[in-house]
Amino acid sequence: MAGSVDNAGVQELFPEPVAGWKQIAVDRPIDLAGRGLTYAVRPELEDLAIGEPVTVPLGRGNTPTAGWVTGPAEAPSPTAPTKHVLARGTGPSLPADLVELGCWIARYWMAHPGPVLSAMIPTAVRRGTGTVVRRLLSPVPAPPDQPGRLGPAQRTVLEAITGLSGDALPIERRALRDLAGIRTYGPIDALINRGLLQEVRRTAISAAWDPTHLKVPPVPTPTQAQQLVVDAVSADLNRYAAHLLHGVTGAGKTEVYLRVMQRVLDAGKHVLVLVPEIALTPQTAARLTARFPDETVALLHSALPAAARHAQWQATRRGDARITLGPRSAVFAPVSDGQLGLIVVDEEHDASFKQDSSPRYHGRDVAIRRAHHAGCPILLCSATPSLESWHNAKTRPDWTLHTLDKRAPGLQTPRTRVVDLAAERREDGGRRSAMGPTLRQALTSTLDAGRQALLLLNRRGWATYIACTARQCGRVVECRHCDAAMVYHRQGHIPAGGFVRCHHCLGEVRLPKACPDCGGPIARLGAGTQRLEDELLRDYPDLVEGESLVRLDSDSMADAASLHETLAAFQRGDVRVLLGTQMIAKGLDVPGVRLVGVIDADTALHLPDFRAAERTFQLVSQVTGRCGRGDEPGIAIVQTMDPRAVSIVAACDGRTSAFLDQECQARHQASLPPATRMTRLVCQDEDLTRCESTVERAADTLRSLAPASGVLVGPMPCPLARVRGRHRRELLLTAANAVEMQTWLHRGAAERVFTASSLIVDVDPMSLL
Ligand code: ADP
Ligand code: ZN
Repeated sequence: MAGSVDNAGVQELFPEPVAGWKQIAVDRPIDLAGRGLTYAVRPELEDLAIGEPVTVPLGRGNTPTAGWVTGPAEAPSPTAPTKHVLARGTGPSLPADLVELGCWIARYWMAHPGPVLSAMIPTAVRRGTGTVVRRLLSPVPAPPDQPGRLGPAQRTVLEAITGLSGDALPIERRALRDLAGIRTYGPIDALINRGLLQEVRRTAISAAWDPTHLKVPPVPTPTQAQQLVVDAVSADLNRYAAHLLHGVTGAGKTEVYLRVMQRVLDAGKHVLVLVPEIALTPQTAARLTARFPDETVALLHSALPAAARHAQWQATRRGDARITLGPRSAVFAPVSDGQLGLIVVDEEHDASFKQDSSPRYHGRDVAIRRAHHAGCPILLCSATPSLESWHNAKTRPDWTLHTLDKRAPGLQTPRTRVVDLAAERREDGGRRSAMGPTLRQALTSTLDAGRQALLLLNRRGWATYIACTARQCGRVVECRHCDAAMVYHRQGHIPAGGFVRCHHCLGEVRLPKACPDCGGPIARLGAGTQRLEDELLRDYPDLVEGESLVRLDSDSMADAASLHETLAAFQRGDVRVLLGTQMIAKGLDVPGVRLVGVIDADTALHLPDFRAAERTFQLVSQVTGRCGRGDEPGIAIVQTMDPRAVSIVAACDGRTSAFLDQECQARHQASLPPATRMTRLVCQDEDLTRCESTVERAADTLRSLAPASGVLVGPMPCPLARVRGRHRRELLLTAANAVEMQTWLHRGAAERVFTASSLIVDVDPMSLL
């Protein structure tokens, strides 16, 4: 697709001199899997380097459009019309390594290079929001002897700041102004000019989310097992190698990578640390900043204010920060060419590393590619490695698998118990409470002992569906725009209040009083986090909602600040019972947790997705690993309707390697990833006939282009066959390996299979709903 620009009809009145040709990735979706379009440059633009921003004319109207230089280009044929780069762009330039990575992403994930490069630069950076992050003030240690006469407002400011205790300094300009009760910054600026106040500029961490307040464990002496891993990874410091560190939760994996990081920093190189979501793994950020007090840690965090994000990005770009920490998009941190010394991917199995909107990419896989290109090692850590990484570590020569099979010294291994929910309900006299007698007893004794509990229920809302109880009807209330059941959410504590919401289009209606079909009675069925909360408040009158009992899910936590506050309160011990969705399964490391309860381990088990078992295993393993962090053992109680399900039993018994090996074999037998590569094509269209004919056309062409190992399944309706009023039809492509899959897709692109805007191409899909 890369090539010259179609500008037929454009008359060049004054032909400009052509000093050379450049490939430009334009910020528009018009160059699928390409490397850029060819433009001419005038002599004064001949020195444009790779990664520099430019403005180029695009399309019939020659609309000035942003783009980046991706490389030199061959001269097009003399008959092709010539378009010139108009000017240098105003935004930041990208390191050449990143441009290369972006072009690779466009090729591999069937995206457009310009939008990919654009996505690499945070919006705040592109807009140049707030160049300075924080201007902090403190009194000068030795003020001039004769400061001269001060105005009254200046005196008030000086009195205010000198009255502050040491830990309140330095203080934000704005806070000082408020403290002094003045309306303008004039007096403060005057004091700075007179040398009575000094200004400190801090860019490391924004006040919006500061992990340095969290408690961090002391630096331990590594065990022999940890040291072996540190040494093995350190032996590869100047070349590409992938190391998968598999260790039970609490095995000391973080400690391992902190030590490897130290060596890389000592060698003067940059380290990139990717985590699923910083707000959910605050301790990781806290430990990193505490461990390397002399380093500036650039924190690329979605909850940071725009100006702070800009500053963090620039700190990485300039090389002021040599550690960059962030979620998947931090894989695009603008580390200067040749400076990258190590990439760490913590919780590498986490689904949030996959971006499921355009441009689609998998942060972990981009990280592997980036390490490869930079010639540095990558260290992937997890208690429950993804099947992909497990497979790579077992089959590829440049991968090494390390295992830490014991918890770190001083930590107890939690006991786990699987309980059969059906039997529990019988014992409970048919009561359908979310918690059976076993879990209730365990919670009671945990609270009596003054300890904390974590309860996982991976479903939001109060009731997961609403159904008519008339025998001949039984209708489930569905969304008008989606093929999905409406979820009942209670509103405040109004008994009759509440509404039903669709979790796909977020459409809401009031709870119907009767069945819309037959007028029969309506029942609210299936327990979500809200109902669990109500049950707990009823059964444990000592718990106070929002104080000792807190619900943590995306409905209750509106922003990162409230999430952070809840996690901190839990760590302090103020919150006794924390209940929530998988958000609570991630990085919590709280010594007081004695009980972990999984209300329903089956939520992911029966999803129509070949990763259902893997996901169930991950969730149960991760959450049960959250207890026993202190000096007493904890217990995890896992409720399930399917107490013999392999994924649940293996997670509870801690047999991770055995489960992964067995699952890997099952995938081989079924020719599913990671034994093969998959691509999913989804067509979404309001018009069903058009939807079907679009996929059918794509299917026909792709079938004719299939490589030897290629298998095409479909067209068929997606498991979620309609969302937001759009019908969804899909094709699943599998091929033996990445090379064959890529060949297939690029042949398809050349035949313009993917051009319909209703088509989504999802290479290596992570969710099949
Ligand atoms: P993981 O990342 O595998 O969950 P961490 O590195 O967070 O494990 O370690 C869990 C806890 O054990 C932390 O509090 C850590 O400080 C402590 N720890 C790690 N390694 C050791 C060690 N060798 N000796 C004592 N404590 C350790
Ligand atoms: Zn809907």
